[in-house]
Amino acid sequence: ILDGIINKGKGKVKKEHSEDDNIRVIIAPTYGPQSLIEYENGELCIELVDLLLSANYHVSLRPHWLTDNLNPDILNHLEDLYSEFDKFEIDRNLSSHSSIEASDIMVCDLSGVALEYAFGYLRPILYIDLPLRVRNSEFAALSLPATEVKLRELTGAVVSPTELSTVPELLQSLVDDAPKVEETLLEARNKWVFNIGKSSEIAATHIEKVLNALNASPAKPRLNEDNNRAIETILTLKNASVVYANKYQGLAPSNLKIEKGKFTVFLGPSGAGKSTLLRALNGIVPINSGEIISLTHGILDNPNIWKEHQKQTAMTFQQHQLIERHSVLQNVLLGRLPFRSNIKSLWPWGPEDKRIALSCLDRVGLIEKALERVSNLSGGQKQRVGIARALAQKPSIILADEPVASLDPTTSDRILGFLKELCLETGITLVVSLHQVDLAQKYADKIVGIFKGRILFEDQSVNTTVEKLRVLYGADGINDDIPEPD
Ligand code: ADP
Ligand code: MG
Repeated sequence: ILDGIINKGKGKVKKEHSEDDNIRVIIAPTYGPQSLIEYENGELCIELVDLLLSANYHVSLRPHWLTDNLNPDILNHLEDLYSEFDKFEIDRNLSSHSSIEASDIMVCDLSGVALEYAFGYLRPILYIDLPLRVRNSEFAALSLPATEVKLRELTGAVVSPTELSTVPELLQSLVDDAPKVEETLLEARNKWVFNIGKSSEIAATHIEKVLNALNASPAKPRLNEDNNRAIETILTLKNASVVYANKYQGLAPSNLKIEKGKFTVFLGPSGAGKSTLLRALNGIVPINSGEIISLTHGILDNPNIWKEHQKQTAMTFQQHQLIERHSVLQNVLLGRLPFRSNIKSLWPWGPEDKRIALSCLDRVGLIEKALERVSNLSGGQKQRVGIARALAQKPSIILADEPVASLDPTTSDRILGFLKELCLETGITLVVSLHQVDLAQKYADKIVGIFKGRILFEDQSVNTTVEKLRVLYGADGINDDIPEPD
């Protein structure tokens, strides 16, 4: 709007002077019972108009369209009251700017139009200090002045509603001071308004960048720097989608390659579909279209093959899903369940299973806690028990769903460092979902950006540009307030 006004008048719209030389005042308030027109049922406005007319000003009243719609009686009453005055008019035609352009000064309460007027036409405002219309009930807790309030002092003068009699004189002095006022307004505009004169161009460039990021092509097959062999794909998603029982599409038809022995991170805000995708990869959640192909088992297209795939694919969970009242060792032994026949599961665990479970506990540094109840452990320790349980399954893939979501930053870093080490030392393929950008960038070989059930990008972590992350997380990269999926 501001650029429109400025470009139209090249920053300074000269008003076209009318028949008389009276100063032309435009009253352009907001709406509602606290607004300049509706306040005290129009009494304040009448007092103001009377004062202005007797001081020989020309007065245009430009009501907010909501006043016109919700409270037209007040406007009709004002129209009747001043029907004999040819220096008074009510301008209800909001698509025309002629009454604004013809004015010398604006009288306002606190409406956005004031700033457009001041910064667009470089003409002053006289503000009547009515109670603010505050929408945020906790506004005061912010301890910050609203920009519109702060800018009142810089764009004109503020008068209390109990001192309306001073208005005609104040208006006169502001108009007399026009050249100085213009200079002050220009200075304020340069300080307070960004991208002035080129907002469309800058917005268009940004939109283009976002679109390019969305269209970014998936990573091409790469060669392993070490031995120049093509990296193998352990899991491939082809056009796979997930639709939940309630018809909600948790995953749009997607293509994805998980590289063997690498550390892949699914990055996205809460509700993006990270868990859905992870669960689809081991069949806890069935896919509704397309297919998932495993390096060892081929297309996973029947229950027996899925079962084989699940044996080699371990999963850890944000809430670790441990049995709190059981010992650490008993919990880790559950990782051996897929290898027990039904009949054997009636018997106590054998020495071989126990040996494996203890060595996994050793691997995560918790061997001394083997006989401790899980409920006595810290969050980080519980997450490590979950990892040990996954390791006990002797998997080739570990799917870790938000392993550090409920941990403090130091512990989070340590757990991810541990998972990365595991990946490097054992060659187990790690797929980890996270919502922390910094951790993803620190540890991932590849980041898969997920938002609203879609894969937005796949990238080597170092290439994950700020722009792409902005798409995922909103303008400042810390936007937790992501809208619900459509
Ligand atoms: P994330 O792990 O990224 O937080 P999820 O994969 O858990 O996201 O969820 C993605 C979307 O799918 C969310 O909107 C969620 O409400 C929905 N969703 C998840 N599980 C189900 C389900 N069982 N039935 C219906 N909708 C679900
Ligand atoms: Mg989740």
